[in-house]
Amino acid sequence: MEMTELRFRAAERLLERGWDVFVLHEIGTDRAHHLFQKFWDVDHPQYVSGNPHEDKIPRYYRLVDELAGRLFKKLPRDVEVLVVSDHGNQAQRGVLALNQLLAEWGFLRFRREPSRGEDVDAVVDWERSVAVAWGGYYARVFINAVGEEAVEVKRELKQKLSVLKAPWGYIRNVVFEPAELYRAVRGDAPDLMAYFDSLRVRPVQTVGWESPWLEGNDRGPDDSLHSFNGFYAATWGDARRKDIHALDVAGFLERVL
Ligand SMILES: [Zn+2]
Repeated sequence: MEMTELRFRAAERLLERGWDVFVLHEIGTDRAHHLFQKFWDVDHPQYVSGNPHEDKIPRYYRLVDELAGRLFKKLPRDVEVLVVSDHGNQAQRGVLALNQLLAEWGFLRFRREPSRGEDVDAVVDWERSVAVAWGGYYARVFINAVGEEAVEVKRELKQKLSVLKAPWGYIRNVVFEPAELYRAVRGDAPDLMAYFDSLRVRPVQTVGWESPWLEGNDRGPDDSLHSFNGFYAATWGDARRKDIHALDVAGFLERVL
């Protein structure tokens, strides 16, 4: 809260200088969810009603709302305002150590027995592995094979990951190849991008766990995951309409600037 107050105070100062476009980025809303989601979100599996941190997220949003209101009041009349988040947040329902699963399925082999929570990079046996994954909000799967074998591994993994069930039941997973999502694929692109339970299950890349399904995040507390819908509000023209796509924002800006 202190950080946010400071940031808005700095913004108020900077507003007094000459500018054409003024951008303020506040990361606190994201962090508040990552740290306090389970204390506030009734859909979170670990939510306990009446816990002492239940009001942390609403309190933080009230602060941001108040500070944003104060900032907007300082703007000249002819300024158009756009408030936009690049994603929403939702409760984390589970954590999946995907490489552990790849090892169980025989796609990945280790050079030695991994210690608990060890990064896959330290133990992967590249000679005998055909697939390895990076974690994140979605998993990036890299296939270590060529020709027919690569095609077959990709097909098999796509199928297996799409229908993967969680310990609590069916979940909705989607698996894409980058070219299905992006107009151009550059750099060291993964072979598959896997989204589990509509982003409510977090894939992680560490190994050495008793089961591929973990109790919580593998690297410190984090109870929330990004979701597809974010926040959006605007003061002008067709930018005010509801249900816009993130990519529309660029178009609105082009027209205004
Ligand atoms: Zn985040």
